[in-house]
Amino acid sequence: MAARGKVTIDVEECKGCGLCVESCPPKCLELAPELSAYGVHPARYTGEGCTGCGICFYCCPEPGALTVYRLLAAKKPAQSSAAPSGGSHAPAL
Ligand code: SF4
Ligand code: SF4
Repeated sequence: MAARGKVTIDVEECKGCGLCVESCPPKCLELAPELSAYGVHPARYTGEGCTGCGICFYCCPEPGALTVYRLLAAKKPAQSSAAPSGGSHAPAL
């Protein structure tokens, strides 16, 4: 299934608590094996499976550490309409 979202994590803000990893329903977040400058394992996106649900965002205690993007669905072709276009009809006074 095509991803419907994506997430970016600011390594400078992430404290490696792992709450986002635990909260993600499709399990598309993980803690990196390498340490950040703060000496923690920062979270990272595995690169696939994000639905854009935003649960990880609401679980993260660090403002600005995690950003969720929802991808727009492709537009369907415009449908023809039989309804006439035009403005509303105000009653004549
Ligand atoms: S937005 Fe949802 S699916 Fe995407 S990484 Fe966060 S919790 Fe997982
Ligand atoms: S919840 Fe926030 S601070 Fe904790 S690991 Fe995830 S991005 Fe980092």
